[in-house]
Amino acid sequence: MLKSLSAFSTLLIISCLANAQFVDKVTDPVDYVNPLMGSQSLGDLSNGNTYPSIALPWGMNFWTPQTGKMGDGWQYTYTAQKIRGFKQTHQPSPWMNDYGEFSIMPVNGLHFTEDSRASWFSHKTEIVKPYYYSVYLADDDITTEITPTERAARFRITFPRTDSAYVVIDAYNKGSYIKVIPGENKIVGYSTRNSEGVPSNFKNYFVIVFDKPFTSSHTWKDKELEDSVELKGEHVGAVVGFSSVVRGTVLNARVASSFISIEQAEQNLKEIGNDNFEQIADKGRAIWNKTLSRVSAEGGTIDQMRTFYSCLYRMLFFPLKLYEKDATGRIVHYSPFNGKVEDGYLFAGTGFWDTFRALYPFLNLVYPDINREMQAGLVNDYKEGGWLPEWSSPGYRDVMVGNNSASVVADAYLKGNRGYDIQTLYQALLHGANNAGPEGTGRVGVDYYNKLGYVPYNVGINENAARTLEYAFDDFSIYQLGKALGRPADELKLYASRAMNYKNLFDPEHKLMRGKNQDGSFESPFNPFKWGDAFTEGNSWHYTWGVFQDIQGLIDLMGGRKQFVSMLDSVFVMPPTFDDSYYGFPIHEIREMQIAGMGQYAHGNQPIQHMLYLYGYAGEPWKTQYWVRESMRKLYQATPDGYCGDEDNGQTSAWYVFSALGFYPVCPGTDQYVLGAPLFKKLTLHLDNGKQFVISAPNNSRTNLYVEKAVLNGQVWDKNWIAPSTIRQGGEIQFTMGATPNKARGTEPSDYPYSFSTDKSNPLNVK
Ligand code: CA
Repeated sequence: MLKSLSAFSTLLIISCLANAQFVDKVTDPVDYVNPLMGSQSLGDLSNGNTYPSIALPWGMNFWTPQTGKMGDGWQYTYTAQKIRGFKQTHQPSPWMNDYGEFSIMPVNGLHFTEDSRASWFSHKTEIVKPYYYSVYLADDDITTEITPTERAARFRITFPRTDSAYVVIDAYNKGSYIKVIPGENKIVGYSTRNSEGVPSNFKNYFVIVFDKPFTSSHTWKDKELEDSVELKGEHVGAVVGFSSVVRGTVLNARVASSFISIEQAEQNLKEIGNDNFEQIADKGRAIWNKTLSRVSAEGGTIDQMRTFYSCLYRMLFFPLKLYEKDATGRIVHYSPFNGKVEDGYLFAGTGFWDTFRALYPFLNLVYPDINREMQAGLVNDYKEGGWLPEWSSPGYRDVMVGNNSASVVADAYLKGNRGYDIQTLYQALLHGANNAGPEGTGRVGVDYYNKLGYVPYNVGINENAARTLEYAFDDFSIYQLGKALGRPADELKLYASRAMNYKNLFDPEHKLMRGKNQDGSFESPFNPFKWGDAFTEGNSWHYTWGVFQDIQGLIDLMGGRKQFVSMLDSVFVMPPTFDDSYYGFPIHEIREMQIAGMGQYAHGNQPIQHMLYLYGYAGEPWKTQYWVRESMRKLYQATPDGYCGDEDNGQTSAWYVFSALGFYPVCPGTDQYVLGAPLFKKLTLHLDNGKQFVISAPNNSRTNLYVEKAVLNGQVWDKNWIAPSTIRQGGEIQFTMGATPNKARGTEPSDYPYSFSTDKSNPLNVK
């Protein structure tokens, strides 16, 4: 009996383990999110460069525990030991840094400076959910909990027995204001700290209301306590006391902010209404579950589920809502361009250089409703500032290259999004495409580009080859949108011809893109492994593939499919050699390529992220299947070191999420996604139009990673692409997966994805 029971137990355990390997159905996807994914990062090695965002999707402000010092972009690092405060943040990345930030920190004892108030903490006492954060501050014996709404939050602070219970408010340096209103248990103030991109009169106003009267109150300036209730200066704050509390005393605080005024911050505080802490947390949990549930995954390992939903979480923040609702319910925003309060939507905190690639295409597929507001916000950017942003943080920031707002605008409209002023946006694209604007808007080097067909290497314009390649793709985006809007034939032909400008930089000797001088000669000497210089945060081997609109044209330039595939293969075969002389040190993106063990493949940065999908343009889709599954497995984990480089406002996560679906938007602005290999046994898209699209792969597994067969809505599907418009109509694609490549599927030229030079409607092809 004992013996047989023991055998039975062993069997049971084995069978449980086998079952435990796969999660059948996810009902509460928020439980799979780890907001700490990517937070173990440093300036010289990024594992994501993220911080835990305690916020609602696209909320106007986020909350994060703060371990770094004031002004440090690395505001929360996983390896830190002390928390200095709980910070309201709008930071898109440590490189862009924050604006309008302030913090709240409960303490036991009257210590308020950022070093003296810092407390030891442990991840063992931390609960980190998108809608809820809790931590035990060990030095003070205080537990702090936070739960957010879109523009407000609730704090719940549990004190020990003490006669020195305080809460510190830090309005930060570079100009701040604080006022304590004891009669109302209230503190108001503003922070003007910013890292560019906002006008000089910019402020983030805040209001904090406690549920207990203050037994003492101070303001402070730098490191000195003051007795006044109101203070304005370079760096001010407040400390309010709740003395002589018994152990377990709970202090509640409601916090809200506004970019418009203190009155509007009070208005935004009404988001909390009469809800208590649990009710706000429950509502936040429900909103996250509902938003994440637009994609429901089944039949993946628990690790895959966690990675998938942690990535999806990371895609639902930027650009954030910069707009507010006034007392009459009107949508208004503080304009970072003219400093006025204007009507309508506005968003901020994204760089299109990163996010045009996959983040915006994903919004267009799964969350077109929020992108409709974002597009309306772009109309306001243009009306108020005269240009579309390329990097808004908010306002305009001269950071990266390209004029990729063209892709962001074109893809939304071409994927069927409507309900905003597309005519104005199209005019904005034409304006940006033919002028160099301030702060990286429009096109640097536009006169050269329009005259010569490229931005020369030797005219003092940095990263010129990258600019040329991106402008050519942007011109394709304008062409596609112009065609949909019925623009004149000569205008369409102009942008169609500019879309082919990538050819001007192709060096047949190296079969690579190379900087070109004003006189038509190539840059010399030429080192294909040199980062930066003619390119942006990458080398020629990364940027050569940046011809999203015409891969067939690139194949032709390289001498045909065999040579093209051989060049793709070479990326993984070559050692991770690099020349960092342009930067003078190995920038973190270089280091991330070097340590990934994938040769020259630099997934930690954006320029090459679509490359794995290009094999399907040359009839060898099984190589795409192998490499995307390999990259998903190796380069992403729902752990603090779980990204292989900067996450970058949803883009690197969007690569994973799209890839897990089984396809990727190599060329936004076309009606094609390029097929890869799905990750789960089943995945259902619950689309905003009420339709469902199912991606099933019942025999999917770690080893069954190749597509043996695909059936789309009942028909055998041998194409290496799938149409977003088909997906949006609802239906199903069924994959039969196998452990060995099917080298007969997807091999015919008729199976290859879209290329502009073989597009019969391309006006350049019409004789
Ligand atoms: Ca990057």
